[in-house]
Amino acid sequence: MLVDSKGCCCGGGMNFFAESDGKRLGWHEYFMSVAHLIARRATCTRGHVGAVIVRENNILSTGYNGAPSGLPHCNDSNCRIYKTTHPDGTLEENCVNTIHAEINAIAQAAKHGVSIKDSDIYITASPCIHCLKVLINVGIKTIYYAQPYKMEHIAELVRLSGIHLVQVTVESNQPE
Ligand SMILES: [Zn+2]
Ligand SMILES: [Zn+2]
Repeated sequence: MLVDSKGCCCGGGMNFFAESDGKRLGWHEYFMSVAHLIARRATCTRGHVGAVIVRENNILSTGYNGAPSGLPHCNDSNCRIYKTTHPDGTLEENCVNTIHAEINAIAQAAKHGVSIKDSDIYITASPCIHCLKVLINVGIKTIYYAQPYKMEHIAELVRLSGIHLVQVTVESNQPE
């Protein structure tokens, strides 16, 4: 294992994860930093999102957005876009090839028989309304998100469901 001059195994290329003032990462920053790292595995060119499901400071499952296992990844030419119109009249575009990061994290937990009831999730972007409905039903208590994404579409469902929605930002110079 390579160890840099500060005794860290991460090396210079991973400064994104080190606090510039040398302070220890808090739990929120820790899990959101992991979510940002996971987002770098995402394959749909329309957006890179990472998700981490956590309970009692343990990571239970992770996911990023992309095509189902074994299917071709998205690229500039094969994203298949569908449009939906929300009740307020706003138009949303999504890629039909792609499973969202939150759903992939839930699928990974289901595949391996990991209970995620009463857990929290860290996502690099706030969930779309479709993912939010699933997060409510699997028993997620708090959604921590970094970037707001069309919050107006989920505001009513958040209010009615009682699920907690909290923004957490970390220092990141990584393109999403
Ligand atoms: Zn795509
Ligand atoms: Zn979604």
